[in-house]
Amino acid sequence: MPRVVIVTGGSRGIGAATALAFARRGFAVCVAYRSDAVAAGEVLEACRTFGSEAVAIAADVTMHDDVASLFTAAGDLGTLTALVNNAGVVGPRARVDEMSAERLTTMFAVNVIGPFLCAAQAVRRMSTQRGGAGGSIVNVSSAAARLGSPGEYVDYAASKGALDTMTLGLAKEVAAEGIRVNAVRPGLICTDIHASGGQPDRVERLRSNVPMQRGGVPVEVAEAIAWLCSEEASYVTGALLDVAGGR
Ligand code: NAP
Repeated sequence: MPRVVIVTGGSRGIGAATALAFARRGFAVCVAYRSDAVAAGEVLEACRTFGSEAVAIAADVTMHDDVASLFTAAGDLGTLTALVNNAGVVGPRARVDEMSAERLTTMFAVNVIGPFLCAAQAVRRMSTQRGGAGGSIVNVSSAAARLGSPGEYVDYAASKGALDTMTLGLAKEVAAEGIRVNAVRPGLICTDIHASGGQPDRVERLRSNVPMQRGGVPVEVAEAIAWLCSEEASYVTGALLDVAGGR
């Protein structure tokens, strides 16, 4: 049976590049997406060009039943080896004193509760104390967790701060059960997320603030994620790996 990875938010951007990075390494890939079935289908086709088995499952990570169904479906591919908690959202540019309760609820539901629900399902399957074979979880956090994103989206930054803390705690909680838990913290990466937050020119506008003077591309984050899940990273857990061009 092949090794299996679940990538949430795998239909585009960093998640799509991550699905491909795992397919290239011989994993069976479960691409989870919220709404864009066409984009998810294109990722599947690309994964299959590497000879990888791949399925796309519609699952809103904030919904417990969706998440449970996602993990059940992935089980048909083989033994779950890796989970990439990648799905995430930003809101439009705003100050904290302008943020509605609805905005904050959505932000923390997608970026924090979703990863918790997925991690819980993964631990139940991977833990050697529960008969599993171990595995690896990577949370896709953000450089925003340490920058704070003032005047832009402090709520998003705080949600990623929570994800960093979950990474540290869960890594220690399950380290003796064969599960490694790490995070990557991307900086400015060229994806649609900036347009979805109403700032399509964000990377171009801010790239001079990056010591490397450019935005990153999704595959540069994907390779770091795949490495964290690999045997080469066998003694790495509880790490927060910045992939941010020095920012
Ligand atoms: P993106 O292009 O906007 O893609 C977001 C993905 O998340 C999509 O596949 C989307 O699915 C999915 N998604 C959103 N809400 C969801 C939900 N409730 N349930 C399930 N899936 C959901 O974003 P990206 O730039 O690749 O970002 C990926 C991750 O990297 C996010 O966690 C983001 O915070 C983080 N990050 C990005 C950057 C950057 O500069 N791009 C920097 C730091 C961190 P649908 O397409 O089906 O809606």
